[in-house]
Amino acid sequence: MDKKLLTIIVPCYNEEESLPIFYKTVHEMEDKLSSVDLEFMFVDDGSKDRTLEVCRQLHKQDERVHYVSFSRNFGKEAGIYAGLEKSKGDYVVIMDADLQDPPAMLPEMLSYIESGEYECVATRRVDRKGEPPIRSWFARKFYKLMNKISSADIVDGARDYQMMTRKVVDAIVSMREYNRFSKGIFGWVGFKRKWLEFENVERVAGETKWSFWKLFVYAIDGIVAFSTAPLVMASIFGVIMCLVAFIFIVVIIVRTLVFGDPTSGWPSMVCIFLLVSGIQLFCMGVLGQYLSKAYLETKQRPIYLVQEEE
Ligand code: UDP
Ligand code: MG
Repeated sequence: MDKKLLTIIVPCYNEEESLPIFYKTVHEMEDKLSSVDLEFMFVDDGSKDRTLEVCRQLHKQDERVHYVSFSRNFGKEAGIYAGLEKSKGDYVVIMDADLQDPPAMLPEMLSYIESGEYECVATRRVDRKGEPPIRSWFARKFYKLMNKISSADIVDGARDYQMMTRKVVDAIVSMREYNRFSKGIFGWVGFKRKWLEFENVERVAGETKWSFWKLFVYAIDGIVAFSTAPLVMASIFGVIMCLVAFIFIVVIIVRTLVFGDPTSGWPSMVCIFLLVSGIQLFCMGVLGQYLSKAYLETKQRPIYLVQEEE
């Protein structure tokens, strides 16, 4: 029987320090993965350091190493997409370059996939050790909210570290949306998934590419991509404001009839104006978010552009 091929996809942005360590670590544990042939697919996401040279070097050294280099930084989601699209493996696994996704789990993941019982083996962190507490707090709140307002099943602490069969890869590649929110996409495609848990590991070298602000924008993107609840909320806001206004009208008419009409209430009027126009602007902003995403989708721009590929 022919051996199956396992593709390891690694999105890399400024990982000149981590990438060689990553390759070495996986290389050293290869005998535990002897039931499959390996293929590496490094995606250089427009790095500004020597990541591309590291990729070239590794390719020269080991012909199973392939790489794609983007013309600029397109983001990790685009990197994952490119990797999936270019991968040839019967099985595919996505891993970070910084060894925060422990390669030691690969044999276990592989055994679940090979058993044929699962199409996808996903991982989640059970803690967020070594992360600023405020970031963890926001992250937890985000997942709670997201699961309330979206039908895609998005798991707290879920990593992009997943192994899947060709079936799942093809399903994900067929989703050509421009605004990619991988965590949502993985949940959306479904298929039988096995969850493995692990404790957070800190990155081996280099530093995180995610600032708090970037994560915040990412969270908003996720909500807009996988839920239309904010649009419903905007309408509900409108209905509530109408009800409040109606009650006010009744109160004012009754008061005028009973007590006469002393001209007063200017400050309260200003407050109401401010509140209502604030809510209106907010709702318009929500609409704008969806409109802008729809606008970008209709342009059908490519998800990434390749500068060099081997
Ligand atoms: N990454 C990428 N493009 C980006 C940002 C990050 O390909 O624009 C890669 C990065 O090289 C790493 C992975 O995505 O392999 C995770 O990034 P990072 O470790 O900075 O995120 P964290 O683990 O802190 O969430
Ligand atoms: Mg990391």
